[in-house]
This record gives sequence, structure tokens and C-alpha cells, in this order.
Amino acid sequence: MLPRLFSLSNITATTRLHGYRAFSSKVAPKNYAFAFDIDGVLIKGKRTIPEAKRAIRMLNGDNAHGRHVPFVLLTNGGGVTEQAKAEQISNMLDVEISPDQVILSHSPMQALVEQYKNKNVLVVGGKDRECFHVAKKYGFNHVFIPDDIHHWQASVWPFRHPSRDSISPDAASLDFSKIPFGAVMVFHDSRDWGRDIQIMLDAICAENGVVGTQKGDCKVQEVPVYFSNTDIIWSTEFPVPRLAQGSFKMALENVYHTLTGTNLQSTSYGKPYPTTYAYAERVIERINDGKKPSRIYAVGDNPAADIKGANNYGWTSVLVRTGVFQEPGNSPHFPAHSVCQHVEEAVEWVLQQEEDKEKKA
Ligand SMILES: [Mg+2]
Repeated sequence: MLPRLFSLSNITATTRLHGYRAFSSKVAPKNYAFAFDIDGVLIKGKRTIPEAKRAIRMLNGDNAHGRHVPFVLLTNGGGVTEQAKAEQISNMLDVEISPDQVILSHSPMQALVEQYKNKNVLVVGGKDRECFHVAKKYGFNHVFIPDDIHHWQASVWPFRHPSRDSISPDAASLDFSKIPFGAVMVFHDSRDWGRDIQIMLDAICAENGVVGTQKGDCKVQEVPVYFSNTDIIWSTEFPVPRLAQGSFKMALENVYHTLTGTNLQSTSYGKPYPTTYAYAERVIERINDGKKPSRIYAVGDNPAADIKGANNYGWTSVLVRTGVFQEPGNSPHFPAHSVCQHVEEAVEWVLQQEEDKEKKA
């Protein structure tokens, strides 16, 4: 299920959206569009990459040809609502980004609502109860987080107490011996790998998904598992890349295989998976006045996610050196169509390509 999107042509320059001035009106739909990764391309942790401000301004018409070019932000990040991410990036880049331009790793997981709307879902990852609220906003009616289970029985993970900030308003009435889980969904990075792997295994290996019970035969997995991204590493202000959700997935899979002798079955979203690109293309079409652009330029810093995914989906990939990838030349494993120093250079390169195409046409 897609979030409600608006048409650019319906928005006036004076419209204010979520505290930010929305797009200027009368932006003609384009035959090409951009999909920017966020971390390592536009920002690094809490720091803005300086060229990013100029790059986005260029797409908003501040270029030699006065062109407005549609773009979305396509990130394997998440843990907040699309609206919260749009506000964060708008503030950091000092430009207007609409929530409808933001595709988070878990945005395409809204398609799972139809299947799990009225089932009990264990949502893992993120700060405090933020992913609980994201899942509720998407339409999942019965959402629980590992902290809820930890509050119910401290002995689930006896090495620490859960954070007070994450206590559910219904904590006193929750009895997980009566709550069978229908699915486990990882929305964002776990803040406590050991505790969360334990609780996920409790749900996956349980009889009928009831935590505190154990199936005799683990060969048939009854509780499906979903991951919102499988990046092994990501880029922050720290000089060396950090472990990401894909590493957490590997840890869970290893423990599961060691304990049960079988491979954990799961479904993954985010880049480089085609489900995410199909979702992104529908979003781009909506913000481009219902017209599907012929070319989509993906700008990213992670060859294994941004470049591999874009290449496989038939987009044009541009690799930048401001994040995970910092080597000379192109990526040996997932070569991009073009490699640029930073996002501003990438935008300039694409605009020039497109101007040349237009001249020739
Ligand atoms: Mg990145």
C-alpha cells in the first residue's frame, strides 16, 4: 500500500507542508529523475556533506538551464516515519523535502499490512518505541517490540533491564504466554544484538509463535521473518564503516543454524532488492505528475547496495566517494556507470548528459 502522494502541479509556491515550503508550482514532468541515497551521499551521521546542499538546489531550478528535476531520497536507513526523515533532511540541507519524496528501507513493507494487519507482529530495531509507531502508522494493528517482552519477563534477557523510555502504556496487561506471533519484522538496526537475537529466536522457534514455548521440530519454520535491509556496513562520521542490519541478520542466521541445523528463511527489502526499486519507481511516477521517466539516475556510496541494485533494475548508477566507497577508480565488484567525487559533481554530470541529449533530439 503506497502512502497518499500528491501531484506536483497541484502545489503552489506558498503551500506550507510540515513546516517547510513545498515545491514551486508548474513543474513540468521530466523524462528523467534522480534517486539519492542519504548516508554517505547527502549526510554523514549528524554532518551535512557540503556539496549536497548545492546539488539539491541545482535540481530545484538553480542551474544554468533553469531546470527543475524530480528526485526522491532512497535510503536503507529508517527507524522513523517518512515525515520525520523528510523534516530531518530538510533541516540539514536547508531545502524543502516532502515526506512523499522519502523512501525508507521499511517503506515498501507497507505491502505486508494486508497480510498481517490483524496478526501479532514483533517489530525489532530502532530507538525506544519509534519503530512501534512507524508500524502502527503503516496500519499493523497488533505491534509489539522486544522491550515489551523484556518488561513482561526480565529473565528473558537477565543481563540488563529494558529502557524506561520504551515502556508500553499497556505493559501491565501484556501476557506474552497468550500472544502468538504471526511474523517478526526487523525495521531498523538492533540496539542490543544479544537481547534481540534471543527474543527473535524465542518467537521463531516457539510452538505456534508463543514465546516461552519451544517446537519439537524446527525443520518447518512457521513464523516468517522480514528484514528491512541487508547492508553489511554503513558510513557515519567515524573514519571506518560501521556494522549494519545485514551483519545482524548474519549473526541471527548463524545462531539459528547452529541451534536447529536448518537455514533460517527470510525475506529482505531495501537496496539492492527489486521490490524496493519497483516501489521507488511508483513513487517517482507519482511525484512526476503520473509520468514514468525514461531514465532514473541512482546516486549512492555503497556499491553492494546502491550500485548493484540500480544496475540490476536498469537504472543509471553514479558512485560517489564521500561514504563507504573511497577507493581509486570504479568498484571492481559492482561497477557504476559513472564515478564522481561527490553528489554535486554527480548532478552536474547528469544534467550535462541530459542537456546534450535534448540538443541532439
Ligand atoms: Mg549510503
